[in-house]
Amino acid sequence: TTMDAGGGLRTPIVAVLGHVDHGKTSLLDKVRGSAVTSGEAGAITQHIGATAVPLETISDIAGRLVDPDDFDLPGLLFIDTPGHHSFSTLRSRGGALADIAVLVVDVNDGFQPQTLEAIDILKRTQTPFIVAANKIDTTPGWNPNPDTPVQQTLAEQSDRAEQRLNESLYEIIGELSDNGFSADMYWRVQNFRGNIGVVPVSAETGEGVPDLLAVLMGLSQRYMKEDMSIDTAGAGAGTVLEVKEERGFGTTLDVVLYDGSIRTDDTIVVGGKNDPIVTDVRALLQPRPLEEIRTEKRFEKVDEVTAAAGVKIAAPDLDEALAGAPVRVVRDRPEEEVVEEVRQELADISVDTAEN
Ligand code: GDP
Repeated sequence: TTMDAGGGLRTPIVAVLGHVDHGKTSLLDKVRGSAVTSGEAGAITQHIGATAVPLETISDIAGRLVDPDDFDLPGLLFIDTPGHHSFSTLRSRGGALADIAVLVVDVNDGFQPQTLEAIDILKRTQTPFIVAANKIDTTPGWNPNPDTPVQQTLAEQSDRAEQRLNESLYEIIGELSDNGFSADMYWRVQNFRGNIGVVPVSAETGEGVPDLLAVLMGLSQRYMKEDMSIDTAGAGAGTVLEVKEERGFGTTLDVVLYDGSIRTDDTIVVGGKNDPIVTDVRALLQPRPLEEIRTEKRFEKVDEVTAAAGVKIAAPDLDEALAGAPVRVVRDRPEEEVVEEVRQELADISVDTAEN
């Protein structure tokens, strides 16, 4: 074959942030729900702490907005825990763990304190983002067209309703501009590097959800493809989402893997309260598929996980592990080198935290 054995493009990691009650959780639920009802086999894969939506499913939801032939990135991986607290503690090699973010803003409520906090974090971490202007269905006189692209539903609104919504949307565009971002409705944005695309959506009716997925996919494909190129057979690198006690497994790590792979025979190094922890993987766990969840066991064991993915790692000696800390697979490198890498990265994270 012409391709490198371990070459591959990974799924971009997407985070959802925004002010409380602006609809982060609802939007994630809607994306998952749309995927499940899309009719595609294997529509989504529930990972630990994340949901993978494959390209075929995105294309099914987005219809004419996404032609799968235009893409070679495999889909999108949404981090399930929304909010900027999780976002800001989740790092990868000094940058943000998420490759791209959705900033959710309630069209009625506009910018609020946590919207501004989120903007600051996105600026600081230089994370590309789009704005989901949510709850468009609450516009007075709105005529809902479930799950349709936004321009299609806009065409079916009264002039009065469209005007009311436009006023709210331009207020959001104005607030983005006050914060140093040139922004416009996403369909008018030519260059997403210098401009923020605003996607009007409803997490309630699904209007605009096709657009949201299409824009995330398009942006990733256009501007991030090089960063998504990984050696799928290489030593894995990830970030700890959570340190959790799990019956039958002891202390486990919920990890988002953003590079390489992890296998059940790997030795790993994890950031800990004092020194980096060196330990051997005992089991790699994924949630059991929904239809099998009635069996007692919540997890199923897998032999290998390849980035980008969420996975639960069971291993001895994890009590001192830290949420937000790096995880590295040792594999064929000298162990000391990996320990030093983890130590250095932990030091960088602590300096950052102290600065805030
Ligand atoms: P979060 O705190 O940002 O995660 O917000 P939630 O997803 O919990 O949403 C807060 C409230 O707004 C809930 O009662 C949702 O049902 C409601 N909500 C969220 N999105 C929409 C929407 O698009 N339209 C309407 N009408 N309600 C919404």
